[in-house]
Amino acid sequence: MTQTDPLRDLIRSTLDFYARFDWQPELTGAAKVFQEEVAELLEAAHEGSNKDHIAEEAADVMVTVIGVCQAAGVDPQLLIDQLYAVVAKNNAKTHETHIYLDGKIRRRHPKSS
Ligand SMILES: [Mg+2]
Repeated sequence: MTQTDPLRDLIRSTLDFYARFDWQPELTGAAKVFQEEVAELLEAAHEGSNKDHIAEEAADVMVTVIGVCQAAGVDPQLLIDQLYAVVAKNNAKTHETHIYLDGKIRRRHPKSS
């Protein structure tokens, strides 16, 4: 049985999409598109009533993040690995290790330097 991996599918689809239009993202252009999509997401989220629209804009942000990473030369597998590393790190955080403080989840005991 083939397992689906939406993250891998999204990255593959996005890179295929760019290739189909013969677009090699460069950082300035990719960053501009990303910022436009972030602004659209925040506008939709602040407006708040149309959940489908908010989700659509969030998906646009995720797609344009992939463009920024490609423009910066990040290997798609590295992006996937880092996303799953964040998932694992967040899953490991507990109330013993972290605390919600000043609008952010922070380490309970900051790393000593
Ligand atoms: Mg959009």
